[in-house]
Amino acid sequence: MLKKFKKIILYVIFVIIFVKCAEVVFRSKVIETGAKDETPISVYKEFNYGDYTTIKLLHTETGQVEDVPMDIYLYGVVSAEMPVSFELEALKSQAVVARTYTIYKIMNGGKHIEQNADICDNSLCCQAWISKENRLARWEEEKREENWLKIENAVNSTIGKVILYEGQPINAFFHSNSGGSTESPVNVWGGSYPYLQTVETSGENNYSSYSSELIVTKDELIQKMLDKYADFQIDFAVENNLQILENTEGGRVKKIKIGNKEISGTDCRQIFSLRSAKFNVQIDNDNIKFSCLGYGHGVGLSQCGADTLAKNGYDYIGIVKYYYKDVEISE
Ligand SMILES: [Zn+2]
Repeated sequence: MLKKFKKIILYVIFVIIFVKCAEVVFRSKVIETGAKDETPISVYKEFNYGDYTTIKLLHTETGQVEDVPMDIYLYGVVSAEMPVSFELEALKSQAVVARTYTIYKIMNGGKHIEQNADICDNSLCCQAWISKENRLARWEEEKREENWLKIENAVNSTIGKVILYEGQPINAFFHSNSGGSTESPVNVWGGSYPYLQTVETSGENNYSSYSSELIVTKDELIQKMLDKYADFQIDFAVENNLQILENTEGGRVKKIKIGNKEISGTDCRQIFSLRSAKFNVQIDNDNIKFSCLGYGHGVGLSQCGADTLAKNGYDYIGIVKYYYKDVEISE
């Protein structure tokens, strides 16, 4: 009887220990899963503009990294990214967008951690930047002082202004000309942000960057496709062997069939160096003609659109809020 009682006690102790262990393992699993589901740490890092008054600028030609005060850096960005002839409010919107873009890059690591730099001076990689000396040299002599003061004014009158979504700096993409409507980033790089949506802009056709054509011969098309896809084949005699299959809501090519390949408009843009993915394509005897609208990836603020809006009476805050949904501008 006593033996049986001992057995029961041992059994109960064993069950209690087992349940406790299982609980500990389960809890640690929950914590682990929770951490994985969390958005990157940077999102929770409290944003403080004072942390970004100096940036490390990588000069891509020399490889030199220079510490530059944020606003001095922005003179070089605004004057490289937007024509000085644009409206002052458009230049101010560019200053705020470039400041926000820079801070977002720093907060999220950017592309130049290995070089110990925050951002580089190349528009194809980060955003364009030009030294004051080089900028002035490219303007007519009698316009230099007036132009530079306009750039300084655009930056200085927006000092510390950053575009925020739910209190955090946004990924403030911008481009030259949307060709009438901007694009959702999901159709360009695959990601999505609630503040980056398709927006229509009228008046961008008044700028030279609005439309362009690119003509390649059939042989050139075949060679460029072969450079990218070794098994590429096309028979131009077969109907519909070169045709757009689907467009995005922003009016860009989502999918195009070229011979035995179905590729995205973004890939097609890259292969043929088109100004945008908003294009039509035609076969004309031995040539292929791409007719493009707009210039750039089409996401976020359109610079020509910003100038148009400024001409229509929008201030820089109105321009920023036109292109980025539900955002605030920091005080
Ligand atoms: Zn870069």
